Amino acid sequence: MKSALIFNIQKFSVHDGPGIRTTVFFKGCPLTCQWCHNPESQRYGQEILSHSNRCTSCGQCIKSCRQKAILMVDGQVFYDLSRCTYCGVCAENCCNNAREVVGKSYTVPQLMVEIAKDRPFYEQSGGGVTLSGGEVMTQIEFALDLVKACREQGISVVVDTCGYAPPENFSRILEYIDVFLYDIKLIDSKEHRQYTGKDNALILENLKMLSSSGANISLRLPLIEKINTDNEHIQQILDFIAMLRIGFIYLLPYHDMAIGKYQQWNIECSGEKFFAPSNERLEEIRSIFEQANYKVKIGG
Ligand code: SF4
Ligand code: SF4
Ligand code: SF4
Repeated sequence: MKSALIFNIQKFSVHDGPGIRTTVFFKGCPLTCQWCHNPESQRYGQEILSHSNRCTSCGQCIKSCRQKAILMVDGQVFYDLSRCTYCGVCAENCCNNAREVVGKSYTVPQLMVEIAKDRPFYEQSGGGVTLSGGEVMTQIEFALDLVKACREQGISVVVDTCGYAPPENFSRILEYIDVFLYDIKLIDSKEHRQYTGKDNALILENLKMLSSSGANISLRLPLIEKINTDNEHIQQILDFIAMLRIGFIYLLPYHDMAIGKYQQWNIECSGEKFFAPSNERLEEIRSIFEQANYKVKIGG
């Protein structure tokens, strides 16, 4: 049976589409946005992350690892990832919670058990399930089975996507999706590549295709001061979406809550410091889109 790695299932989410939703975060993303709030979502495959600030160098994990993938050098713990099988035994044996397994494998029926638990909330609020990540659209076979299972149970499905996936993946899933929450990060392809690791031609083409197919699309615009909040970029977005059918535009100001994750888990980060636009600038951007007759909301 097909399975997918999920790194979080967030219950009672009110920022990922209409009503109260259960957001399922798929592990693995084709982009590497430098400001990513979920750096643990980017790599495909399970990972062991270490919270080095919690480690007391007790050595318990070394004894528990059958693969001999953990070493102590000068009182510091090191991991040999070439030996690690991601079994998670070291995490279970660390009484300081300094080791964490990220990514749990689920089949569709297993996920449906979790999703169906919140059905009363979906029914009362007009909510449902939101597939997020990482990037769910790069795991299309599993995603299709999951959305069909949701549909059979009358559960609404929203897809939160960066848009970087083969066009046919969108065509195949389209009929089962109530809303696409679609990110636009940068319109300039060179800058997009610089900050996300990939060109944006595919993303913009997929957005056009979804719009012409009649999909219900809401845009999500992550806003990072000095990167994509100037008038020129906002105008580029307006020009690009002028001929598209867009429901809502959500303005998502950058926040630095993930910085701790990069530090705690020893994940490499670009080193560039990012900032949120001021409240005043956010209101200006909101006003620009509203004047162009878009429905705009600050936040998810
Ligand atoms: S698309 Fe989203 S999950 Fe992927 S790297 Fe960018 S911010 Fe992170
Ligand atoms: S068991 Fe936990 S606290 Fe002890 S050395 Fe290993 S990671 Fe550090
Ligand atoms: S996850 Fe398993 S193999 Fe990897 S370091 Fe921990 S105990 Fe060893």
